[in-house]
Formats: sequence, structure tokens, C-alpha cells
Amino acid sequence: MCMAKKFLISMRLQMKNKTSGGERMKELAIKAKNIHKTYGNLTAVNDLSFEVPRRSCFGFLGPNGAGKTTMMKMLFGKTERDHFRGGEVSVFGYDPKKSGLEIKFFTGIVSQEDNLDQELSVFQNLMIYSKFYALPAKQARHFIKNVLAFMELSDKKDFQIRQLSGGMKRRLLIARALINNPKLLILDEPTTGLDPQVRHVIWDKLRDLKKQGVTILLTTHYMEEAFQICDDLIIMNKGGKVMQGPPAFLIDKHIETYVLELYHTGGKAFNAADGVRTEFMNSRMLLYADDFEKIKQISDQFKAGDFILRQSNLEDVFLKITGRKLHE
Ligand code: ADP
Repeated sequence: MCMAKKFLISMRLQMKNKTSGGERMKELAIKAKNIHKTYGNLTAVNDLSFEVPRRSCFGFLGPNGAGKTTMMKMLFGKTERDHFRGGEVSVFGYDPKKSGLEIKFFTGIVSQEDNLDQELSVFQNLMIYSKFYALPAKQARHFIKNVLAFMELSDKKDFQIRQLSGGMKRRLLIARALINNPKLLILDEPTTGLDPQVRHVIWDKLRDLKKQGVTILLTTHYMEEAFQICDDLIIMNKGGKVMQGPPAFLIDKHIETYVLELYHTGGKAFNAADGVRTEFMNSRMLLYADDFEKIKQISDQFKAGDFILRQSNLEDVFLKITGRKLHE
């Protein structure tokens, strides 16, 4: 048996002993305290602290460049945090600074980029990946069968990667991340660019995984995605935490209950009543209020098609907090 394989097998055994015996954080999957990351003069992550309970789904939201990916990469040791600033990270009891390899061993990672091997089939891609975990070939074949079935890709087993659609590739990337039966799954924008059908399938799969006991961490730009699957989330901006909480709580706490979107107001300020907050957005005007009757009365002055009256959502909170201007 080659040295690398021996090393991986002995690590698997050590991990088994360690995680069953000496886990320090009983119910927490992740604890991060005062984390910083700078690139030269740029502060990518600024004093971030958070905790993620086991078997939950935790989201990082924020505009481009907010520091979401950097924060996630620091959790599995792909990027080093600034050690000179102090701070602590524990991922199932391991510090990524010292134990990046151990963390990778029980973590599945789905990055933004499609790094599948185009020259190989679906099965061959998974088989090669299983070698990183020193899975014996028979066991690997069994796991591959299971993960392909779980992601509804069994009939694509012998397809070449170039024959797959974008949605199939993304499902395959998730299947690949599950090959080591991870207890932590990290996904960077798992459904960006996918059509709504695939997005809903992926959400269902993530909910299933959570029920099976997997802790899930994700970044997303889709507020609906965060609302649907995250138990708790952080909204980040310019490297820092702007707010944190369960999605429904954030909506309840940080935004009025109803929104009236008015079109064709000609950019004119509308003299709204007390208790109604107004925002302008190009040719649209948004009126926010907790009192439904008040906002309904305003909407009655407009003809159908010139307004939408709806409940506020996480996107309203997000835009209120991070601003409506482009972050470029
Ligand atoms: P997000 O995932 O929220 O879009 P990132 O974590 O990718 O944000 O990036 C946060 C900031 O750090 C950005 O300004 C980005 O340009 C910068 N950044 C990320 N990675 C590097 C790197 N390897 N070197 C220099 N700057 C980086």
C-alpha cells in the first residue's frame, strides 16, 4: 500500500476516534470569533463573529465583494485568516489554521466554478474524486451509485461532462461533494445561473441533507433561496456583519410589513401619509408601511397595472441595508 494511502487511512481512523470522543463543541458545528482577513490595504473580512448550530443551514448574504467567499474559505483552510489580529475559529472542534486537512476530510465543498474534468465521464469524475478520500474501489462504486441517485443523475453516469446541461453539472458538483459522506457541506452560490426548476430541486436536496444531519453553509445572491432554506443568516457588507438572524425575524424586525410599488409617478414625490416611508428607485416609488389600511387607501388612487401591493420580503431588507446603488 502506498504511503499516501496509508496516511489517509490512518487519518480516517484518528478522526473517527476524535470526533466520537473528544468533541469540544457539543451542539455547535462552527464557532468563529473576531475573524479578520486583509489583502494588502483591502479589508476583505472585518471582525466577523458567528456560531452555526449542527444540523442547520447558515447563509452568508451580501453584495459582490462583501467578503462571503473569503469567510467561507477561511473555514476550511483554503484561505488563512489574519493571525496577527487574533480571533478564533472552530469547525467541529478543529482550527482550520492547524487542521485544514482534517476539516476537508469531513467537509463537502461546492465551489462557484465548474472544475469537473471535461475529458472524463460522470462516473470517472466521481471515481477520481473518491481517491482523495482513499475510498476502496468497491465502496467508492457504492457511494457513487448512492450520490448519483440522490441527485437524480443515475441515468447520466456514463455521459461525458460536455454532454451535461448547466443544471446537471451543478447537481454533479453537489453529488461529488457528498462522496465522503460529509457532516459539513459548504456551497458557494449553489444555484446562480440555474433555471427555477433546477433551483427548486437543489433546495429540496439541501433540505433532505439537513434532515439527514448535515450542517450546511452557503453564500447566495438569491433572497428567496436564503428565505427558503437558511435557518439563520448573516448579511455582510464591505467585509463586516450588518445584521444576523433567522430570515423571518429579520423581515419582522427591519422592514415594514407592506410595500406599495408605484410605477409611472413621473418621478414626482408622492405626499405619503404619516407612518409611510418612501424610497425612490429610478422611475419607481416604493412606499413602506405596517398599517395595511393606510397603504391600501393610497393604492386605491392608482389604476390597476400602475402599482403592486405586496408583503415585504428579505430582498427589501437587503436593499434597505446594503443600498440600491451598484457595488462595483
Ligand atoms: P464575495 O464572495 O462577497 O463576492 P469575496 O470574498 O470574493 O467577496 O471578496 C472580498 C474582497 O476581497 C473583494 O474586494 C475581492 O476583490 C477581494 N479578494 C478576494 N480574494 C482575493 C485575493 N486572493 N487577493 C486579493 N483580493 C482578494
